[in-house]
Amino acid sequence: MGVRTRARSLAGDLVGAGLDQVVARHLPETPLGPGDLRATWFGAASVLLDDGRTRLLLDPFVTRPGMLRVGLGFPLRPDGVGVERWLDRLGARGTAAVLVSHSHYDHLLDAAVFARKADAILVGSESTANVGRGAGLPDDRIRVAQPWTPMQFGAFEVTFLPSEHAPALLGRVPYPGAIPIPLRTPAPARAFRMGAVHGIRVRHPAGSLVHLASAQVGSGTFRDTSAHTVLLALAGRASTERLLEAVVDALGARRVIPIHWDDLFRSLARSLRPLPSVGLAGFFEDVSRLRPDLEVATLPMGQPRTLFGGG
Ligand SMILES: [Zn+2]
Repeated sequence: MGVRTRARSLAGDLVGAGLDQVVARHLPETPLGPGDLRATWFGAASVLLDDGRTRLLLDPFVTRPGMLRVGLGFPLRPDGVGVERWLDRLGARGTAAVLVSHSHYDHLLDAAVFARKADAILVGSESTANVGRGAGLPDDRIRVAQPWTPMQFGAFEVTFLPSEHAPALLGRVPYPGAIPIPLRTPAPARAFRMGAVHGIRVRHPAGSLVHLASAQVGSGTFRDTSAHTVLLALAGRASTERLLEAVVDALGARRVIPIHWDDLFRSLARSLRPLPSVGLAGFFEDVSRLRPDLEVATLPMGQPRTLFGGG
């Protein structure tokens, strides 16, 4: 092996560290049973929940502009063709609601377009609502989530739990503040101010879960709340141990499914890579050391898996 080849393969190992764990922990493909709750993860914090009758999209984001475009403050424009393609691939037309955890571009840039094309309502903070208004969604298709107040979509009960954002960018919370007036795209990443941050609790006859799209919670986020499964963002976490205490222990969760670990600057048309700063391999090591009995499962990119059997 020549020096150059060796250097490249070492770099490749570094970039992909932890991917083997992701693949080894994929939930198995199972026949679809009546009442099953299925989840499809499609990069970053994007998740489709589907029980065969009702569909919910959480933080759907497929445009994934490159790091330079984001970092240099170029205007970002939702990829409408990409949204259409993903709606078809996911079988997500006729989705009841698009739920948005907070208003950063990697959670919200595409959400209003998904809502419009899928005939869904857009649900999130006042800042999220302002992106919906800027995208021309009518008022009756926008709902500002009231914290702690359950909403019903078919058999799904959805509750927005006030939370916090991890200091994910050089030790700081990126783009703080709110979006006070309707925001039209194209707009630079910094225009997508964070707004209120929420964990999203989903209860269903088949099972309960929490979608946590940033690796931090508020002190009271999970008070009086339990959930079997956590879809847990890894990006920006300071300490796996503290995150497990604040989330898994607080919820009494039995299973963690990592999300928001992949390189979100890389097109979904390419193979997935972990974002190096996420320390993906370290997460798996930490969990097996700190919580050896906790199930850590993963979702394969863009493929539905049964989270909870309905039978
Ligand atoms: Zn964020």
